[in-house]
Amino acid sequence: MNDPRPSLYDLDRSAIGSVLAELDEPAYRARQVWRWLYRAFVDDPHAMTDLPTQLRDALAEKVTGSTIRPLRSEDAEDGLAVKWLFGLRDGQSIESVLMHYVDPADEDEIVPGEVPHGRHTVCFSTQAGCAMGCVFCATGQMGLLRDLGRGECIEQIVFAARHLAASGERLSHVVFMGMGEPLANWPATRGVIETLIDRDGFAMSPRRLTVSTVGIVPGIHRLKELGLPVRLAVSLHAADDALRSELVAVNQVYGLDAILAACRAYQIALGRRITFEYVLIRDRNDDLSQARALAKRLTGIHAHVNLIPLNPTAGSPMRPSRYDTAAAFADELRAAGIPTTLRMRRGIEIQAGCGQLRARDQEGLVGRTIPLTLHESPPNAQEIDRDE
Ligand code: SAH
Ligand code: SF4
Repeated sequence: MNDPRPSLYDLDRSAIGSVLAELDEPAYRARQVWRWLYRAFVDDPHAMTDLPTQLRDALAEKVTGSTIRPLRSEDAEDGLAVKWLFGLRDGQSIESVLMHYVDPADEDEIVPGEVPHGRHTVCFSTQAGCAMGCVFCATGQMGLLRDLGRGECIEQIVFAARHLAASGERLSHVVFMGMGEPLANWPATRGVIETLIDRDGFAMSPRRLTVSTVGIVPGIHRLKELGLPVRLAVSLHAADDALRSELVAVNQVYGLDAILAACRAYQIALGRRITFEYVLIRDRNDDLSQARALAKRLTGIHAHVNLIPLNPTAGSPMRPSRYDTAAAFADELRAAGIPTTLRMRRGIEIQAGCGQLRARDQEGLVGRTIPLTLHESPPNAQEIDRDE
């Protein structure tokens, strides 16, 4: 528990090189180790069979094994997602979700609990808790417990990749959308991006990575300065600062004008369409005047809006918008020329992606049947109004 040694996933490529240099090993060994970690997903030096036995022993003395431990997993009823709750070495817990996207022609072959053939996206956490204070978010309701280390972040992704590899499948996309604010933990976020695009490992295109932020302006600039075409998703939830500050405490630090200016600069530098996420909360931010104001604010940005009806949390009385209201909000944006998706996110995606699995665990509720309804769009009104 108090082992001060790093895990191999805590170390970036140059740090692995330094450890090997200390052991008087030639530089090419770093590449061998890297490939074990990120191509074979093996982190036990003893299993790195192309290294000399002595080196395997020496490495095993310097580093520890995995720093995250799966505590629970839950499969979606339709077999299209699995979520994991992981315990960390200091007793904190975090969540990740692996989502599967299957060609409709292959849908008949889906067996819940098994990995289907298709595209696979992992959503992982960057912090235990979050300091940004979004009132509707289960992670926000915990406050910030701590930042995750590089290794704790990467291991969630490796865990998912290993799970897929056991069925001959590969990870296609990674979203920084689990617990926490990725741009408030920049060292880990940058480390994950650099690792995922490394050609000797995952070799992923930056276009397959999406960083979702509540709008940390200096963080958006840092991401831009990396110069990689990483997808940016910005969680807005309101089109005026007064309302946004009620819903998202950090809006008092980074307001809408500054956020949207940073988005424009990001787009000019990297040319990517930006996704704006908007959680629809009944009678709070779902008035059509907000839709019109949002459209106006997004003028000149190559944008896509994702509308997500609120997934209620135990810590807040807020309710999701009614379906008709949500649909009218979407139509208003579309009429203003903004491509919009009314995303009835899969229940599981929301429940695990926003700290709700952990929240439930702490209430002792995990294991009870909480329906993980997977909404297909368009959903029927009954699904949204399920708590009435
Ligand atoms: N901190 C980052 C990324 C993690 S949150 C961010 O805020 O963007 C990922 C997404 O889940 C955000 O768009 C967030 O607004 C949304 N979310 C949080 N709580 C939710 C809830 N109760 N229902 C629906 N979406 C929620
Ligand atoms: Fe943090 Fe994102 Fe939740 Fe807001 S929505 S509290 S930024 S994790």
